[in-house]
Amino acid sequence: LDEVPGKSTGRAEEGPVTYAGIWVFAEQRQGRLAGVVLELLGVARELASQSNTDVTAVLLGQGVAGLASQLIACGADRVYLVEHQELTSYRTEPYTYILSNLVQEYRPEILLLGATHIGCDLAPRLARRLNTGLTADCTGLAVDPEEKILLQTRPAFGGNLMATIACPHHRPQMATVRPGVIVKLEPDYTRKGEVIRQSYTIPPEVLRTTVLEIVQTTATTVNLEEAEIIIAGGRGLGGPEGFRKLEKIAALLGATVGASRGAVEAGWIGREHQVGQTGKTVQPKLYIACGISGAIQHLAGMQRSGCIVAINTDASAPIFRVADYGIVGDVHQILPVLAEEIQTF
Ligand code: FAD
Repeated sequence: LDEVPGKSTGRAEEGPVTYAGIWVFAEQRQGRLAGVVLELLGVARELASQSNTDVTAVLLGQGVAGLASQLIACGADRVYLVEHQELTSYRTEPYTYILSNLVQEYRPEILLLGATHIGCDLAPRLARRLNTGLTADCTGLAVDPEEKILLQTRPAFGGNLMATIACPHHRPQMATVRPGVIVKLEPDYTRKGEVIRQSYTIPPEVLRTTVLEIVQTTATTVNLEEAEIIIAGGRGLGGPEGFRKLEKIAALLGATVGASRGAVEAGWIGREHQVGQTGKTVQPKLYIACGISGAIQHLAGMQRSGCIVAINTDASAPIFRVADYGIVGDVHQILPVLAEEIQTF
């Protein structure tokens, strides 16, 4: 992937422009790295080994230097660190300004961001500024062995097909990647890497917005992305009382309750519980699907779970195609038995 001639990035310079290396935007909030950053470093390492290049994390903020060792332990060879008072909380303009300057100076071949709220705000602005393409919301990345370009996979047509997109002419190749679809590497604190501090003056005209206050949403206890066990319900539960049963079993198992969009749209449970293409992407060790048909948009969010157990009255339900264990039966009969078994276990 190194040494690919690209089109102008807007930087006035003579001679061919070359691009090299894989960059990961190290998104952080209040000094805590977003989980997707560690996942991106994992996939960046894999891509780097296939294309004989290196991995750089770009860390912006204020008082965040301590995060560099975590980035190196999780796969970065180098960290570009920019600390500035104006970068304390995320804002579109100064973050775009700094990142586009860094990219124009060092010219990475690939730039990856998480498809988080911040990533979805920053990436399109940055792509426009750099005059390059962007594949948003990817669920898989690979390198074409012949062309040596990035193959970016994402759902298309409402999740009914997976499209593979390449950006052969413009650089850097940019993608946002959905959190939870890539397995992060175990940190290795013996890994060595360099931290390069960069300093920038941010012109006043860039600072067009001010953060007056950060209001935390009332803490929901739903943290599906980090849950080790999820017990999820669909329309087969028959109503909100079905979810009360799931909550009881969840408490016994130490699990988090998930839901299909069918159940969410019926108003039986809050949207923050939704798993799938338009909900959360999850990767628990155990996923128990109760009365969920297994539509492709639901599978897109949970099929990478370690072990999938499905309970459904319809033996031909698509959920059974991804299930490790399937129970054909009525969820209302099976759940009480399951609860009893867990209690006596
Ligand atoms: P159904 O498809 O109605 O399935 C209910 C299942 O319960 C059936 O298989 C039935 O056999 C079984 N059942 C019935 N009674 C019982 C019983 N007593 N015991 C056991 N089993 C029983 N869906 C998502 O989940 N997440 C998403 O993020 C998502 N995003 C979408 C995005 C787009 C653009 C579109 C078009 C759709 C999306 N959907 C999503 C919707 C998806 O296509 C399905 O409509 C939805 O997943 C169906 O939910 P369900 O499985 O609960 O309901």
